[in-house]
Amino acid sequence: MVSATIRRPSPSPPVDVPGTDGYANGREARTEGMVHELAITNEILRVVVKHARREKAERVHRVALVVSELSDLKPIWIQRYFDRISEGTVAHGARLEIEHQAPEFLCNRSGCGVSFAVSLRTVDRVTCPRCGGGDCTMKEPADYVVEEIEVS
Ligand SMILES: [Zn+2]
Repeated sequence: MVSATIRRPSPSPPVDVPGTDGYANGREARTEGMVHELAITNEILRVVVKHARREKAERVHRVALVVSELSDLKPIWIQRYFDRISEGTVAHGARLEIEHQAPEFLCNRSGCGVSFAVSLRTVDRVTCPRCGGGDCTMKEPADYVVEEIEVS
């Protein structure tokens, strides 16, 4: 059993900015809803298969994904699409483990500038954990990161 860890920022833009991710050329319809999940799943599969090939793996057992809490990706659809489009590849049958990640913020108060992650599901208002300042900017969140791929 070989377990390898790779980190890779999402190459895809936010949902409402089509045309730069290689799936739509800007003249096509917006990528949204399930079409978005399908595009992302294709990208995930491509990364997984490429990695498995490099490891000379016969089977991919598990793929750990970290998905931004703010992304609208639906884990159930990602797994369904993955099951379907991975047919005939080493990744078929792999279990996707999807973890949600709280977005990161940066405190704007001069002399502070601390960055911190906070789940927007748990707070109404974002304040800096160090200085208590309320002037914080959210860093651009990646839609998802392929965190770990387990193969044999
Ligand atoms: Zn601060």
